[in-house]
Amino acid sequence: MVLAERTRPESALHPTVQPDPLARARLSGDGPSEAEIPTIAAWFEDRPAEEVVAWALRLFGSGCPLVCSFQNCVLIDIATRIDDQVEVIFLDTGSHFVETLAFVQDVQARYGLNLKVITPGADADTWPCGSERCCEFRKVLPLDRALTDRTAWMTGLKRVDTPARAHAPVVGWDTTRGMIKVNPLARWSHDDLARYESDHRLPVHPLRGRGYLSIGCSPTTRPVTPDEDVRAGRWPGSRRTECGLHTA
Ligand code: SF4
Repeated sequence: MVLAERTRPESALHPTVQPDPLARARLSGDGPSEAEIPTIAAWFEDRPAEEVVAWALRLFGSGCPLVCSFQNCVLIDIATRIDDQVEVIFLDTGSHFVETLAFVQDVQARYGLNLKVITPGADADTWPCGSERCCEFRKVLPLDRALTDRTAWMTGLKRVDTPARAHAPVVGWDTTRGMIKVNPLARWSHDDLARYESDHRLPVHPLRGRGYLSIGCSPTTRPVTPDEDVRAGRWPGSRRTECGLHTA
């Protein structure tokens, strides 16, 4: 990665290199500034996901939870190999498939996860499942509350997920929340994910084999046919493609 080597800022922390500025930042509880993020993103663009996760967890520690939808457990597998106490946040909207909840329990038991289950506030009752602001009250606002006082958050977002995610950086700035967003799998393809699951013998969401290739809440997710896009089954009959968690 010649360009990154040539332009590497002191603050672009390589997992095996601990420049003083970032060591100080960690001790003081500060992270890189928004202005530093593009350079750090360039540094990590071609690096393995494991290095990105290691950087984030070593730099931010408990200030960087992993937010997981439990459609798969690839990022959990990577992260727990680095820090088996990494905090994993699951947004329980109250409308998940029973298979998803069972998968959460299976993965938690397998890894002994430091799992934090977030539930909606009473204000969500105003918006029934699938309604216009349902995701806002069952996902976005609960996550905002969970990320209060954190420095960063980590997600399994991939560029291939949706056109809106096509340019997602490996390390970016979440403008909505004013914090760092780490997407270690951003460059991964669906095949990369499947290969990792196979190579590491990971458990697979029980609905995957029934055509559910992107899995959200049960009222707004259907299986897809082989000729459909992976996410064609999300919010069927609606123009919505995102729940609002990944607007930045
Ligand atoms: S995915 Fe569907 S049911 Fe779940 S919070 Fe969003 S709109 Fe509501």
